[in-house]
Amino acid sequence: MSFAFDNSYARLPDRFYRRQQPQRMPAPRLVLFNESLAGELGFDPASLTPDDIAALLCGTILPEGAEPLAMVYAGHQFGQWVPRLGDGRALLLGEAVSTAGRRYDIHLKGSGRTPFSRGGDGRAALGPVLREYIVSEAMARLGIPTTRALAAIATGDTIMREVPLPGAVLARVASSHLRVGTFQYFAAIGDQDGLRQLADHAIARLHPGAAEAENPYRALLDAVVAAQARLVADWMGIGFIHGVMNTDNTSIAGETLDYGPCAFMDAFDPGAVFSSIDSFGRYAYGNQPSIVYWNLARLAQALMSLLAPDTEAAQREAQAAIDRFPDLYEAAWLAVMRRKLGLLTAQDDDRALIRDLLTLMREAAADYTLTFRGLADALFTGDGGRGGIFSTPAFAPWLARWRSRTDSDWREPAALQRHLESVNPLFIPRNHLVEEAIAAAYAGDDAPARMLHNVLAEPFIDRPQDARYAEPPRPEQVVQQTFC
Ligand code: AMP
Ligand code: MG
Ligand code: MG
Repeated sequence: MSFAFDNSYARLPDRFYRRQQPQRMPAPRLVLFNESLAGELGFDPASLTPDDIAALLCGTILPEGAEPLAMVYAGHQFGQWVPRLGDGRALLLGEAVSTAGRRYDIHLKGSGRTPFSRGGDGRAALGPVLREYIVSEAMARLGIPTTRALAAIATGDTIMREVPLPGAVLARVASSHLRVGTFQYFAAIGDQDGLRQLADHAIARLHPGAAEAENPYRALLDAVVAAQARLVADWMGIGFIHGVMNTDNTSIAGETLDYGPCAFMDAFDPGAVFSSIDSFGRYAYGNQPSIVYWNLARLAQALMSLLAPDTEAAQREAQAAIDRFPDLYEAAWLAVMRRKLGLLTAQDDDRALIRDLLTLMREAAADYTLTFRGLADALFTGDGGRGGIFSTPAFAPWLARWRSRTDSDWREPAALQRHLESVNPLFIPRNHLVEEAIAAAYAGDDAPARMLHNVLAEPFIDRPQDARYAEPPRPEQVVQQTFC
């Protein structure tokens, strides 16, 4: 039982990776398994026990056709250049071609040491593995481009962090694990052939339209700039904070990649930071668009030698590609926010309407998710939506403005309400719920993690029995920091 592996990355030259076998884990146990994703990938678990699946998807038994390797890359971490990082605790098992004909990386995180581990143990603890599983699958259900979670496997051994913790492996699926840092690595070592092969590989696999362009490498850069502009606009719209937006965590496929100390905001605050390792707030919620812009400038720099034969022309191409980002981002963000407010047409003062709501939300420390969700209720009930916020003196005038603005776009208020409820979720992976599920798992009970995951599978449908999962944290439940 396996995937239909076809490992194009493993056919690239040796210097793109190091071959590495996963560590054998003492007692792999399946904690969470994504059966529908497995099905799409042609992996049929019917004849397998949960323990068999666990052993296969943590690499202790190698699936047939897998060619495990650690990818090499470099990166800027918190703005500091690191010339060689690479998969220090992860392996690419291979690429599976899905039943729909799309190619996906099957990747293990926490599968043991590699030649890129430096001082690290190559392992992952159960908590962060569950966080990535739950949050990445919630993002997928919210319609945001992301890597997917295939399985969370407890390894049956203990790893050392500040305290001893149960070890785990995440089996992850991505359109590709190419990063901005992958290009930075080949550019920095002056490996022109390698850089070109990498760019050709990225075009063929991820942005095939670029191959038809007059300048395919400029078209590749343009495609990544556009995809990242859309992605970060989606993050901003949903209140997501990645937490570690280093260039090695910025995906060429335009997917959310490497969930570490990430978080969803409760109370709206553009300065919100949760990551325990982000002491200066570099990757705060409100900084994310400018950080992506900076990371894309690093990609442009790395691709420079491919963009034109002479340096000046190449610089002009790189600059022109990067200069498109602010407008692309602004347009993507406006589209996201218009959808959230039910503005079908584009009008000049939409930006002011959106900004004014966000200002009120910041001043009131309003819950980001429930404020937008509350618009649908405030339409009819007159009680100001969830928490009554729209009937407060501060918000009521804004609500009246929004009602008259939407009147011209929607003849049927009921249709507007249905729209609002289909784009503004009720259920997000709130930090206190994720932490509660992790704490239970550490205490030996996986049920809360499974339950939370199930609730998040339908983020837009109101269900009275799940009401507690929609609520913001009580003061004593507020999570100040997340760890990876
Ligand atoms: P991250 O911040 O998780 O994206 O990781 C940044 C770099 O550190 C990557 O090269 C990882 O492979 C490496 N790394 C993180 N944790 C470990 C670990 N426990 N053992 C070895 N390498 C690690
Ligand atoms: Mg090699
Ligand atoms: Mg990473």
